Amino acid sequence: MAGTRDEGDDRSSRTLGNGVLIGRPFGIPVFVSPSWLLVAVLITYTFGPYVESHQPGIGAWKWAVSFAYAVFLLLSVLVHELSHSVVALRLGLEVRQITLWLLGGVSTLDEPDTPRKEFLVAAAGPAASIVIAGVSFGLFAALPDGSVPHLLAGQLAFVNAIVAAFNLLPGLPLDGGAIVRSAVWKIARRRSTGTVAAAWAGRGLAVVVVFAAAGWGMVTGNGQPGIVDIVWGGLIAMFLWSGATQVLRVQQVRSRLPRAQARTLLRPALSVPGDLPLGEAIRRARESGMRALVVTDSTGHPTGIVNESAVVATPQERWPWVAVSALSKSLDDSVVLTADLDGEELIKAMQRKPAPEYLVVEPGSSRLAGVLATADVERAVSTG
Ligand SMILES: [Zn+2]
Repeated sequence: MAGTRDEGDDRSSRTLGNGVLIGRPFGIPVFVSPSWLLVAVLITYTFGPYVESHQPGIGAWKWAVSFAYAVFLLLSVLVHELSHSVVALRLGLEVRQITLWLLGGVSTLDEPDTPRKEFLVAAAGPAASIVIAGVSFGLFAALPDGSVPHLLAGQLAFVNAIVAAFNLLPGLPLDGGAIVRSAVWKIARRRSTGTVAAAWAGRGLAVVVVFAAAGWGMVTGNGQPGIVDIVWGGLIAMFLWSGATQVLRVQQVRSRLPRAQARTLLRPALSVPGDLPLGEAIRRARESGMRALVVTDSTGHPTGIVNESAVVATPQERWPWVAVSALSKSLDDSVVLTADLDGEELIKAMQRKPAPEYLVVEPGSSRLAGVLATADVERAVSTG
């Protein structure tokens, strides 16, 4: 069905369920999700009898032909996604991977930073599908009528034309939605305005699909929609609605990202030696108005952050007997952030090494600025 594009970095933080690496065309790792096999079996099973009806006497070979058809479909989706990705690479955007899944593909790539790039990357996929449809149709017309290649070419022309048309529908998460976004972005001069408009268009499309599926039965003359129309319409509408909703949610978080500032969110921290009892360390911290504890070695170099939840979990009567080092997470460079980080950069730095607390140092030096708690950052970006 659809080849949709990933929304920037938002999904790369989640694992995509990578599947099997099948190659690296243009240096881009291409994964096939195991769910594809299921679809391949379904396609082979349903398309086999169709092949036989056009090729009486083909026998068991019909399964080979219909499996080949499933593989050609996969290749069609791959070319569609590669087209997005190669154009993105040409425009200087980073492309991390392509995943081919149940009904289409996802290219994980950098967000285009201009409306023009957005348009070019988005249009490249459907353009590739149109080219495949055209070439397949040419072969269909040229090949001898009634032959197996003629049959396959005809089917591929049809399916790729559908894929192109579907993906050009004007709403996110579809390619057509990205084209709408690029246009609104260009006019409004704000990417976020384009995103919100195109995502709402996607929700509108979902509603239209439901009505269209219901109306289809009337058109075909049964007076009521068939079960297949309803199931397909429902699936497509759900895909569109949930995709558009996801886009809106991400946009909402993004609009709050400027509030994520290491400098303003960091907790002032007290440096203590590792063998200091927790009770004494907390007394000193309270006295000096500090809200975090950092363990330092004899040279004053930070070696660990005292984990807040570990402190809470320790019964207060044991505080005099526990050394702070026992409750501290040892530091490596990856949990050290600089105080000037903010917005998306800060989130990315934290995503590189998920941790409950980060040591924050002054930029350009290793002087301790404080401790940044992940919970504080989450609170800052999530509250209305
Ligand atoms: Zn696409």
